Amino acid sequence: PNKRLLGQTCIVTGASSGIGAAVAQAIGQEGANVVINYHTHEDTANEVAEKIRSFHPDAKAMIFKADVSKESDVEAMFEATIKTFGTVDILVANAGLQQDAATHEMTLDQWQKVIDINLTGQFLCARSAIREFLRRGPRPEVSCALGKIIHMSSVHEIIPWGGHVNYAASKGGINMLMQSLAQEYGPQKVRVNSIGPGAIKTPINLSARDSPEKRAKLMEVIPYKRIGVPSDIGSVAAWLASDESDYITGTTIFVDGGMTCYPGFSENG
Ligand code: NAD
Repeated sequence: PNKRLLGQTCIVTGASSGIGAAVAQAIGQEGANVVINYHTHEDTANEVAEKIRSFHPDAKAMIFKADVSKESDVEAMFEATIKTFGTVDILVANAGLQQDAATHEMTLDQWQKVIDINLTGQFLCARSAIREFLRRGPRPEVSCALGKIIHMSSVHEIIPWGGHVNYAASKGGINMLMQSLAQEYGPQKVRVNSIGPGAIKTPINLSARDSPEKRAKLMEVIPYKRIGVPSDIGSVAAWLASDESDYITGTTIFVDGGMTCYPGFSENG
């Protein structure tokens, strides 16, 4: 099949594990140069890069260490990318974490850390991407859009989540960041969307899956009765980055086996 992202360059943040690693591979498989941002795991970041290079002889991947909540790190990552590959066409702002606590026990540090990484980190990366799109100008030979931004949100941008108020607030914030950016830069042909994963098997939610009882409880909120895998998100991200989805902007695509259909209200569940 034709490679849909040939000649384009994509930065994926938090790409040394889980969803980010799968997205980096899916986008690499479509022919894009991929920058694998990592924060702590250089070894697994290198494994993802090696895998992408194995897809075809011209496949290019580089790893870059950066803390997405630090302005100077994000700027250095974009500079290095532009120096190596010439520009950036696609950003997948994926890095994120949880710091769970009952709200009356949540420390300001726990609140701040999640907002800094999940929300401010996505702002910093999106801002740098838009600056580069505007500086570089259109590249009609590779894409109809000036550039594409995909925010990794969550079903918890709309489903409230007690015990995780910092996380839910960060994802609700990402929704308004994404929609406002789509509105602001639509006229310049920047497409901005979110993916809202449901329960995907990754290190972030290990504790919600580590016993048969917990898995059964999780299944109760998934109408499609399957826990997702990272490649479920990778394939959607590759399509959302491609011109096949050129008329989609300002939207969250939930990839959640129906979790946002509130299965608790079903009488036949
Ligand atoms: P994960 O823990 O495997 O991946 C998160 C990645 O973010 C890690 O590689 C981590 O190193 C990186 N990261 C953390 N802090 C960082 C920082 N300051 N700078 C750069 N990178 C940093 O978990 P995942 O499930 O793959 O999560 C990826 C994204 O998907 C997150 O935004 C998460 O909120 C979202 N998500 C996951 C699920 C799920 O069920 N797994 C559901 C909804 C949303």
